[in-house]
Amino acid sequence: MDLTFTAEEDAFRAGVKTFLDAELPASMRQTYTGFQRHDFDQAMEWHRILARKGWIAPGWPKSHGGCEWTPVQQYIFEEEAMRAGAPRLRPFGLKMLAPVLMTFGSKEQQERFLPPILSGEEFWCQGFSEPGAGSDLASLRTRAVRDGDHFVVNGQKTWNTFGHKADWMFALVRTDPDADGPQKGISMLLIPMDSEGLTVRPIETIDGHHHINEVFLENVRVPAELLVGEENRGWTYAKFLLGNERVGIANVGQSKAELALLREIAMTPRADGSRAIDDDMIAVRLADIIADFAGFEITNLRMLTSLKPGKDVGAISSYLKLRGTDIQNRISALAMDISGPLGLSWSRDADAPQDTWGSHGWANTRPITIFGGASEILKNIVAKQVLEL
Ligand SMILES: Cc1cc2nc3c(=O)[nH]c(=O)nc-3n(C[C@H](O)[C@H](O)[C@H](O)COP(=O)(O)OP(=O)(O)OC[C@H]3O[C@@H](n4cnc5c(N)ncnc54)[C@H](O)[C@@H]3O)c2cc1C
Repeated sequence: MDLTFTAEEDAFRAGVKTFLDAELPASMRQTYTGFQRHDFDQAMEWHRILARKGWIAPGWPKSHGGCEWTPVQQYIFEEEAMRAGAPRLRPFGLKMLAPVLMTFGSKEQQERFLPPILSGEEFWCQGFSEPGAGSDLASLRTRAVRDGDHFVVNGQKTWNTFGHKADWMFALVRTDPDADGPQKGISMLLIPMDSEGLTVRPIETIDGHHHINEVFLENVRVPAELLVGEENRGWTYAKFLLGNERVGIANVGQSKAELALLREIAMTPRADGSRAIDDDMIAVRLADIIADFAGFEITNLRMLTSLKPGKDVGAISSYLKLRGTDIQNRISALAMDISGPLGLSWSRDADAPQDTWGSHGWANTRPITIFGGASEILKNIVAKQVLEL
């Protein structure tokens, strides 16, 4: 296997760097180098900058306004953007819903919804989980009943990320409670967040911030043309969507950038002249993560290169998420330990800048092994579908 980049790929990387030098706002770089977390507005501003350049959707086909870059080009772009300190883009519209609409949605839905996802004018959230339906998602109970040219939706969604910012929610609903098996009676609906009967209530997380919500639906009337694909085939679309979500959460570019930063900090003399790297335990942990990451990076690239556009990424995504989130958790734990007492500072003031390097960053990295499929569930998938155990 040839692991070197081609001359064209090197030229592509140079073009990406030039663009980042010119267009990535200094304030966003400073957020990153100051070990702070980019906020929602910064992410959306970066979204609009990339949209103006035509680089907002690296993997989308050109016919829908994407770049149609190869997996290697997408990887180079992600790596350089993260290294430069760019915010991570919110994936809900761009990487989760859009591929579903392109593959299973109607022409009208593609024409209506893809352009504002590209431009950033419309923001989406995901309405899958419910109280009692997380890992066992197929037990969801939110009910949609056909009434003429509408569905009438009643139920509750939970852990809904950025529902309070969203214009739309892609939701799984039960359309046939008598279907032969729980997965068979589920459909996917596109629901306007300003619908009458829809209420968003905040869930405050331990850091004092408001990222996630409960969403209550009481007799919400959703036009039937907002059904994705066929009625009762929502489980197929959900699995397709979750595959793309999991690949995104693996977050290789950001881990690479953070690992480089962590290495630099560990090697930099502190006020008393000592270096974190001189502690054998720190050195061993850092070397361990670097070695694991090197293997993961190549595996990730190899797997992504083998994927066919528009096809279900399948069990590969479970493996990538498992490994990627394990590495992210180890990076954040080591970063907090290297930070020493500074890493322990903690503010529950929702307006205070959030450090990504200390205990806030560590706490924020914990849920990545839960959302998009908990690690135990993903291990079961890998055991069954990859290892055929
Ligand atoms: C920060 C955050 C943001 C989220 N954002 C969204 C969102 O925007 N939209 C959305 O729809 N959902 C979202 N989720 C929900 C997320 O997808 C669920 O939390 C996740 O699927 C797990 O479901 P659960 O919380 O009900 O836990 P449970 O399913 O109750 O699982 C609890 C524990 O039991 C383990 N477990 C469960 N079943 C098995 C089994 N069969 N074998 C072995 N172990 C098992 C799990 O691995 C887990 O460790 C978010 C969650 C978090 C934490």
